[in-house]
Amino acid sequence: MAVKTAAEYINSLRDGRIIHAGGEKITDIANNNHAALKAGLRMAAFEYVVAADPRYRDLMVEKDENGEPCHFAYNPPRTATDLLRRREIIQKLARICCGLPGAAHFTGVDALHAISAVSRMVDKERSTRYALRVDAFMRECRHRDLGLACGMSGAGRGQSTPGHKDFGINVTSRSAKGVTISGVLAHMTFVPYCHEIIILPAHGLREEEAQHAIALAVPVNAPGVSLILSHSLPDAAMNSLDHPLLSRIYSGDSMVIFDNVFVPHERVFLDGEYEFAGRCARLFASIHRLSSDSRKTVELESLVGSAFLIAEYNSLERFSHIQEKLAQLVYYAEVTETLSHAAALDCIIDNDTGYAFPNPLLSNLAKFTFADYWHQAIKNVQDIAGGLTATLPEGKDLENPAVRPIISPYLSGREGTTAEDRVRIINLVRDLTMPETGAATIHGEGSLIMQKMAILHEADRKRYMSAARRAAGISEIDPHHAYSSLPDLSQADRLLEDI
Ligand SMILES: Cc1cc2nc3c(=O)[nH]c(=O)nc-3n(C[C@H](O)[C@H](O)[C@H](O)COP(=O)(O)OP(=O)(O)OC[C@H]3O[C@@H](n4cnc5c(N)ncnc54)[C@H](O)[C@@H]3O)c2cc1C
Repeated sequence: MAVKTAAEYINSLRDGRIIHAGGEKITDIANNNHAALKAGLRMAAFEYVVAADPRYRDLMVEKDENGEPCHFAYNPPRTATDLLRRREIIQKLARICCGLPGAAHFTGVDALHAISAVSRMVDKERSTRYALRVDAFMRECRHRDLGLACGMSGAGRGQSTPGHKDFGINVTSRSAKGVTISGVLAHMTFVPYCHEIIILPAHGLREEEAQHAIALAVPVNAPGVSLILSHSLPDAAMNSLDHPLLSRIYSGDSMVIFDNVFVPHERVFLDGEYEFAGRCARLFASIHRLSSDSRKTVELESLVGSAFLIAEYNSLERFSHIQEKLAQLVYYAEVTETLSHAAALDCIIDNDTGYAFPNPLLSNLAKFTFADYWHQAIKNVQDIAGGLTATLPEGKDLENPAVRPIISPYLSGREGTTAEDRVRIINLVRDLTMPETGAATIHGEGSLIMQKMAILHEADRKRYMSAARRAAGISEIDPHHAYSSLPDLSQADRLLEDI
């Protein structure tokens, strides 16, 4: 079995994993009363339905080295075309699932590709043998079609941020067979719907923090692992009229507890090589931002589309300030999409591994643009949508035969628009602009400052400085290549003299 069916996937998650949610302990992900958990499972499983659909199979499924079908995501990307195909898969699934598709083949698989590259770098410089372990694990994932989540584990920020208790994982004991880890990771997306967790270092480390330089893989159902779901929407009372989006999507963000979890050596991919922790974190961030930006550009399509629709339903399109807001929203969506697309197209091929990594400057610019402008964008959408976004009666009252005929004419908007369509688009705006989405937009895949630091790290400073020196008339011995061997501008001054 190399590509699971949806039923095989759901059954494979009924493996004794422990999930705490709403004050209860859930031991069967498919058979419980938790509406959000089950909504997320339906979306997660739908990815497998799509992969089996002849319309999408060639896009999503590849052949492995034995000619067996496997999900394309497991193959480390080697060309811009591979990265563009990853984008296309994510965007296709995101459009099918209204912006929040299953992610079994993304976040953790992005981490796997990052550690696969870094293990090769460590082996080359330290004569270790981590890459063999990563390759064996990758073969297992591919063969069993395993869903992977990723948790970044950091060293404490110590005295610089007093009172800030950092989440992280520590190795608590070692034996001839492996290591035992304990700790808590605060946020892990989609983990209830995955089979394995990849843990990576979250940032660069100093020598005295070497014990935090660990990368490893842990099954979600390993003894000692338990998940606590974030406070969850949808709840059982939600219906698709009040919450067209939230009644059916859920990303399963969880806090994950590791209580003396044993990890055999063959699943440990970095153990103390602190000099490689930063590279690991940066490579993962660069690959993962491409995946998440690809999804988010689809979320922006819904956000911008809802603004266009509500403007149309409310007959507002002719007003110049509405047009200006709509233009700003299109600008936001298309700049994010263009940067994300360009990050794949203008990728960097690593000489040692042959892997293609998204252009780190462009993928960070895409994430930053998306996150930084979000609140301005939802302000524009909420402004266009009007006060009903806050005051609309509940769906049950709108459907009540005693009330419906009275209020329907008031809710139907311009000629030809039904009350239900208008109510649905207003409620979509409510779902898309809820406060949790703003926090997820800013902090998911790293807070804004992380992208700013990466943008500054990747900035082509020399080119900018050569430009400034040339314009200011400051001579430079070794200018940036874009500014070397350019004609001397003082020749231009002589042009008129020669005429
Ligand atoms: C929806 C969602 C899903 C997520 N999914 C995952 C996942 O699957 N896997 C995973 O590993 N992580 C995940 N994360 C975690 C995410 O990467 C972090 O939330 C993010 O890196 C910010 O860290 P933090 O939440 O600890 O906030 P903080 O780091 O506490 O940030 C709060 C503020 O403090 C500032 N700050 C913090 N430390 C410093 C400092 N030393 N100097 C100056 N300023 C500082 C930040 O810039 C920010 O302004 C997820 C987060 C969200 C919101």
